[in-house]
Amino acid sequence: MKTIITDKWNRPLHDLRISVTDRCNFRCQYCMPADQFGSNFIFLPNDSLLTFEEIERLATIFARLGVKKLRLTGGEPLLRKDLPDLVEKLSRIKGIEDIGLTTNGFLLSKFAHDLKKAGLKRVNISLDSLNDELFGKINGRMINTKPVLDGIAASKEEDLSIKINMVVKKGLNDAEIIPMAEFCKKEDLQLRYIEFMDVGSTNEWKMDDVATKKEIYEILTKKYELEILEPAYFGEVAKQYRYKDSNLTVGFINSVSESFCGTCTRARLSASGQIYTCLFNGNGFDLRKLLRNGIKDEQLQERIIDVWLGRMDRYSEERTAVTNKSLPKIEMSFIGG
Ligand code: SAM
Ligand code: SF4
Ligand code: SF4
Repeated sequence: MKTIITDKWNRPLHDLRISVTDRCNFRCQYCMPADQFGSNFIFLPNDSLLTFEEIERLATIFARLGVKKLRLTGGEPLLRKDLPDLVEKLSRIKGIEDIGLTTNGFLLSKFAHDLKKAGLKRVNISLDSLNDELFGKINGRMINTKPVLDGIAASKEEDLSIKINMVVKKGLNDAEIIPMAEFCKKEDLQLRYIEFMDVGSTNEWKMDDVATKKEIYEILTKKYELEILEPAYFGEVAKQYRYKDSNLTVGFINSVSESFCGTCTRARLSASGQIYTCLFNGNGFDLRKLLRNGIKDEQLQERIIDVWLGRMDRYSEERTAVTNKSLPKIEMSFIGG
């Protein structure tokens, strides 16, 4: 039986983002800067990662609490061995209607077929530039765009629903706003511009580096006419527009300049089994310990309900008041974005 729960601000629990690894093959400078995540960096040991069976068990409980959408993320989720097996397990859970994956796309051409076969419906592919040199600089590994473009092509081939995520950092890749729009229009892909966020403590975030939605929108509308769309559902993260000359949409994720905490219905499960109720609140609640101490499903469900009922986070709305203040920070690569 389904139990619908709402937090202190009356927000229901609808989505669960599951990080399957804290490791990544990229070192994007806004997420895992290479100088901070070097060869001495200690990642989670394998035995502290939730197993697929543990993830399945938790996702089943979350589904009973109203979660319909799951998103697999990381780190880079495709580095987790046998990821399609997890997708397959999750797609069998009663109540789960939609499984998505957020990936840097590097390994996607290899896995797109198996992922689709296992039940994956949607893929969000991160691509911040089409210029190989700039892309290599942003990803910190001098990797060119080819593997990501191949991943996009393979996802199309599999008929996966695709969104392209572009983090825009002022002075770094803002000149790519139009080329990315042109590319996505040509390829009939939904593009989402994402404001550079102050997650974690390693990316040297400064407000001056944020290309705001307003600034991006001004650049885009010099070339294209856009029409605003109503949110497709409660809790839709991106503000959506339609190009007037086609049916294609383009989105803006305005986490910094226009917060959307009021409709934030997402819980986040880290690769090591902590549940987080906000990207900016590093106080995780340890579910792995409970799982490994033999807790029964009913009790586990009660603990998860308690976490959600006690949720008060609305960091983005309070950003100016609390930035650099007391909340423990958590890295995007750990919690999954
Ligand atoms: N590795 C995968 C990827 O890059 O798509 C999944 C994990 S990544 C943490 C998830 C999303 O977070 C990506 O779209 C990435 O661009 C975005 N991201 C990471 N750091 C960010 C930041 N500081 N501000 C805004 N978005 C960020
Ligand atoms: Fe890796 Fe994704 Fe972070 Fe880039 S954004 S470093 S690809 S986890
Ligand atoms: Fe949700 Fe926290 Fe982001 Fe607000 S700041 S939208 S509560 S994750």
